[in-house]
Amino acid sequence: MKVKRQLHTNGNVVGYTFKCPGCGYHHTPWTEAFEDQSVWGFNGDVDAPTFTPSILFRTGNSQGPVVCHSFVTDGKIQFLSDCTHNLAGKTVELPEID
Ligand SMILES: [Zn+2]
Repeated sequence: MKVKRQLHTNGNVVGYTFKCPGCGYHHTPWTEAFEDQSVWGFNGDVDAPTFTPSILFRTGNSQGPVVCHSFVTDGKIQFLSDCTHNLAGKTVELPEID
């Protein structure tokens, strides 16, 4: 599988985590509202996931700001041109996750 279920303390599945081959962080699109999270659509397929809409991740590290902006469709991740990493503008397979 390419995404890992995230469970709320009540046992409900609230999101899915994948390992990002672009920025190296893990991203978790939330699929069920809790607290004030945005909610993504998910096709229910952990081997060929699709999330809608795009996933925008921002953080910072010792080299400066990190932006990772992607579409995940049918198990592939398309990085948009505003990404700060070297897969910007490219589409690659999502890696398997334990
Ligand atoms: Zn990323």
